[in-house]
Amino acid sequence: MRILLTNDDGYHAPGFEVLEEIARQFSDDVWVCAPSEEQSGAGHSLTLNHPVRLQQFAERRFAVTGTPTDSVMMALREVMDGPPDLILSGVNRGANLGDDITYSGTVSAAIEGALAGIRAIALSQVYTRESAGGDLFAAARAWGPKVLKPLLDTPFDDRTLVNINFPPRVPDDVQGIRIVRQGFHDYSRGSIVEGKDPRGHRYFWFGLHAIEHTLDHGTDLEAIDDGYIAVTPLQLDLTHHASLEAMAKRFHD
Ligand code: MN
Repeated sequence: MRILLTNDDGYHAPGFEVLEEIARQFSDDVWVCAPSEEQSGAGHSLTLNHPVRLQQFAERRFAVTGTPTDSVMMALREVMDGPPDLILSGVNRGANLGDDITYSGTVSAAIEGALAGIRAIALSQVYTRESAGGDLFAAARAWGPKVLKPLLDTPFDDRTLVNINFPPRVPDDVQGIRIVRQGFHDYSRGSIVEGKDPRGHRYFWFGLHAIEHTLDHGTDLEAIDDGYIAVTPLQLDLTHHASLEAMAKRFHD
């Protein structure tokens, strides 16, 4: 099995080493192509207005001066001599739960894989101030292979992918694995911090704290809150099918 690894925290991120450790338990044919710098929050963006550079560090190890999506495109079109059987993206430092998904470069790299018809899985390690003090990625490292194994021969429908989040707990305290739907949390009250730069000009910095969580039953957010690993199958079709008919009536009746 040929595996492509990427992420949005950047080629040198600690979680990327964890991902490679997990991937090597399944295959020796592991390729690495990730953004050279952190790209958290890049979503599914493509670099269109300036060139990107490809850096090679070793056989099968590359970085791209661009986004996670750029990295996957470069890997599939330029870097690899044949398509991978599996794309793994992560392990992200921090949650990709609920409405994080559309902002997430980690998930978007997997989306790019799904668009190319390749089995793609995003992995993220939720952390708290307390859990970040120890081995932040302990749960992902210990449980990653167990969660991935059944997903490697589960059929994925076209244009679908899987999003995995590990709870901020030591491995022995992880309660198990839940297959759950995407939850909801409210970013609308996320803070924008204003400051002044050294030359006295105003700047704004988007903060991500004080997010309102809605712990609906059966969601990824609830699973993490209960100490479970959250596994969520995602689809690329964002159409709200239930609205199609009612909206058409507004236009055609
Ligand atoms: Mn990230």
